[in-house]
Amino acid sequence: MPEKELDYEALGLMVGLEIHQQLATKRKLFCPCPAELTDEDHLEFERRLRPTRGEAGEVDIAALFEWRKGRKYLYEAPHHHSCLVEADEEPPHDISREALVIAMAVAKALGSHIVDEVHVMRKIVIDGSNTTGFQRTSVVALGGSLRVGDKDVPIETICVEEDASRKIGEEGLRVRYRLDRLGIPLIEISTAPVIHSPEEAERVALAIGRLLRLTGRVKRGLGTIRQDLNVSIRGGAKTEIKGVQRLDLIPKVIRYEVLRQVSLLEVRDELHRRGAREEDYEQEPVDVSQVFSGTKSKVLRRTLRSGGVVLAVKLPYFHGLLGKEVMPGRRVGTEFADYVRFWAGVGGLFHSDELPKYGITSDELDKVYEATGAVKGRDAVVIVASDPARARRAVEIVLERAKMALKGVPEETRGANPDGTTRFLRPRPGSARMYPETDLPPAPITEELHREAEKIVPEPLDVKLERLVSKYGLSKELALEVIDDVRLDMIEKLIEKYHDKVKPSIIASFFVVTLRGLKSEGVDIEAIPESFLEELIDRLAQGRIAKEALEELVKAAWKEGNYNVDELVRKLGLGTMTREEAEAIVEEIIREHEEAVKEKGMRAMGLIMGRAMARLRGKIDGKIVAEIVKRKLQEKLGG
Ligand SMILES: [Zn+2]
Repeated sequence: MPEKELDYEALGLMVGLEIHQQLATKRKLFCPCPAELTDEDHLEFERRLRPTRGEAGEVDIAALFEWRKGRKYLYEAPHHHSCLVEADEEPPHDISREALVIAMAVAKALGSHIVDEVHVMRKIVIDGSNTTGFQRTSVVALGGSLRVGDKDVPIETICVEEDASRKIGEEGLRVRYRLDRLGIPLIEISTAPVIHSPEEAERVALAIGRLLRLTGRVKRGLGTIRQDLNVSIRGGAKTEIKGVQRLDLIPKVIRYEVLRQVSLLEVRDELHRRGAREEDYEQEPVDVSQVFSGTKSKVLRRTLRSGGVVLAVKLPYFHGLLGKEVMPGRRVGTEFADYVRFWAGVGGLFHSDELPKYGITSDELDKVYEATGAVKGRDAVVIVASDPARARRAVEIVLERAKMALKGVPEETRGANPDGTTRFLRPRPGSARMYPETDLPPAPITEELHREAEKIVPEPLDVKLERLVSKYGLSKELALEVIDDVRLDMIEKLIEKYHDKVKPSIIASFFVVTLRGLKSEGVDIEAIPESFLEELIDRLAQGRIAKEALEELVKAAWKEGNYNVDELVRKLGLGTMTREEAEAIVEEIIREHEEAVKEKGMRAMGLIMGRAMARLRGKIDGKIVAEIVKRKLQEKLGG
């Protein structure tokens, strides 16, 4: 796709952020289970999801369709990380005070107004990721703002809510989830849609993430923070993009979404220019199975052989528009295919802008044009293959989506892909999506909770910066890097503990320079246990390794999956003790025990070895010590 220059201001770009961050609480939000992921053994059970009635009494349309898709959900219930609450066999327990206190502390730092009473609400969830069919969420504070650069970004709400189950996999209509993540407390911070460029969105997300880390009470690592984005342009539609896990992906995701909306608006304008009207898309599907009776297309052959049909439909005035790219690797046709997949459960579709291809010949395509009465060079045709009922439904969906194209951009919830593109997840939910949790009374926000929250209100950034600079002598640049590091509280803790023995700038550089450098070399630094990193600094403080050895040790540990510092030091010969130094120590020990050596000869080896290891353990490999002891004894006795 040609790099389009986008003038975001002229396009009227508006972005709002919703940051979801897991809190580092001891227990889950509504039960006593530990708030952490686990690989331990589990039980399994299966559920189907029933559509839930909203407060207004109307069945949520999206939930209903998800239900119609006949999906089954298989849940893994780990023995010590889930209970009857996660299984929806027991009502929720009182909301976690710890989670409330952390959210209140964040609210205080943002100048938000904390509510008097927390009301737990149910938010409909249709993908089975919650066993109940809804997610529990509670508003803790409203309003406030965050200074980012020279702009105050208004905060709309601060909520605590339960995280969903972990999706493990999907086979056909069966989805497998794991319940360890279900119920882990999340804080949700929503900004007003006042962000006007992709880069600004990244800066705001970074600032919120930093504020959360400054509490020292949030989880770290990939998957513990997720950003949702609301993106719209003038004349487009508010699109909700879920689950952006990496900060640096935010600008890309927004740019692609703007490109998509711009492209869809161009399609709309072009359709109007060509004279298309809504009633043009009241078409009947045509059974073209006969056309493909001898086809080379594997998909179509397989469908026909298993008793399915191939249906085609004419899309007047759509020639050339389905092949139009909306973002890299995705075309208008892909948008149609997403709808067919979601609403009809059909794997995909073929459209004339991409044919002949995939085993479908131009001769077959001509026949489809003829059968549907489509005009070449003006109309498009879409081909779907499935069992008769689904194929028919798929055609209806294609026609409905075509009508939407006349209006522009449909309101959608989309999911972020790792490359920054997005895919359709579901239509945007209606307003009747929230209703009160009847199993829980409102929880009053007491003076005591306020006092507890007051204690952990994150220190303002400039205060923290000043302390790192004046107390520990970090340069301002390094201190800023430390504050932005995901392991900020760990770095602070280590500096506090070891600053007498290791220069704070060495500890800081290890995290923000060495580790980040290794990340760019492909080392998954998120996966490295903190206990290992702490031990490295400890050995450095003891003078048992040199700071130059840190990088190699991390690399080796990650490569071998072995996080035993002392073992690695020995194996790699990275201890600060040289062979010569060890030899000198062994010689000294032999001199100290001259009597015993004369008396016992080589049988004194055990004694000397024991004394030598007491002094050399962890500094040099035991095998090398044994070898030195043996040789030195032989020299002594022989000489
Ligand atoms: Zn539980």
